[in-house]
Amino acid sequence: MIPSVLPTYSRAPLHFVKGEGTWLIEADGRRFLDMGAGIAVNALGHAHPALVQALTDQAQKLWHVSNLYEIPQQQALADKLVATSFADTVFFTNSGTESCELAVKMARKYWYDKGHPEKTTILAFEGSFHGRSSAGIAAAGSEKMTKGFGPILPGFTHLGWGDHDAMHAAIDDSVGAILIEPVQGEGGIRPLPDQCLKGLRALCDEKGILLILDEVQCGVARTGRLFAHEWAGVTPDIMMVAKGIGGGFPLGAVLATEEAASGMTAGTHGSTYGGNPLACAVGCAVMDIVSTPEFLETVNARAGFLRQKLEGLIAAHPDIFEGVRGLGLMLGIKCRVAPVDVVKAGYECGVITVPAADNVVRLLPPLNISEDEISEAVNRLDFAADAVREAMG
Ligand SMILES: *Cc1c(COP(=O)(O)O)cnc(C)c1O
Repeated sequence: MIPSVLPTYSRAPLHFVKGEGTWLIEADGRRFLDMGAGIAVNALGHAHPALVQALTDQAQKLWHVSNLYEIPQQQALADKLVATSFADTVFFTNSGTESCELAVKMARKYWYDKGHPEKTTILAFEGSFHGRSSAGIAAAGSEKMTKGFGPILPGFTHLGWGDHDAMHAAIDDSVGAILIEPVQGEGGIRPLPDQCLKGLRALCDEKGILLILDEVQCGVARTGRLFAHEWAGVTPDIMMVAKGIGGGFPLGAVLATEEAASGMTAGTHGSTYGGNPLACAVGCAVMDIVSTPEFLETVNARAGFLRQKLEGLIAAHPDIFEGVRGLGLMLGIKCRVAPVDVVKAGYECGVITVPAADNVVRLLPPLNISEDEISEAVNRLDFAADAVREAMG
């Protein structure tokens, strides 16, 4: 008999009932260090006082009004994002996949309005992840995500990660945009080297193509800059955001330049919930904290500390771990064993991590994690590695 919850997830037998900062508390009382943060969502950990305050204050005033009316919290959050990024304008969604939908629509509408309705092709990359909507799975293109769900939305060409020749060969008059994650998340924490992102920007400028960045996982201070592309010193035309921006409240956004957004006039797009007062009140509280230079400096310091600890962990378990990669507090441990075995052993040792493709275990802790918590998490991973070895016999 089918379970009452549609069984699309393979869930761990863990029932968290409370969160406190970097800690998750199980129904049986066990305390886990949360190095997954809801897959980079709980950017400030659980029950952060400023976020709880923003949410409860707003909840007592007004939860929802339609986008038929002005929403001051939405205006405030848009102003903050415009002030701190390349963007001139912002549309609010409720998730990453909705941000993908709009990014794709925006790029196509741009070229349509410019008198180039043929420029519908978007170049995307193998190993990428852009969400589970029809456009999201078509953009990622993997058989795992698309099989059985045809007809797949047309207009995406997929290239190997780092295959420069294939990319140059793929650019013809039908190409309107390039879509890429500056750091692949689901694909196994693969950072795009700065010179590649610079090269992509230059290529887009040369050919007159829009650059769309998916910063749903790597954005919002995760890498130690407010947005990951800042490390390369170039800016996109369109950027997808979600996950961390809401700190745990469902919120996403598409940021764009005035030029790239020029086709999106009244009536061309909309959302019932996107940018509602509750979500935007929380989003403002998140931005006020994570966008300060002091906060970003601390993220970088903690990231350096975690990375150093992980190098030690890897050196102590060369039979289990191969190496660490990533940017800021978006780190991946490449494993010599099945990453799910490490994740499961972590559960037994009281530490939460997240598996990714390419044999990687992901660490995406709250950005305000302390040094002591980092040390304790790595200690627990050390026990987990021993447990994996013992289980192998
Ligand atoms: C999680 C994720 C998405 C999809 O976001 P949802 O909120 O799950 O729809 C899209 N792109 C990237 C890079 C992601 O990590």
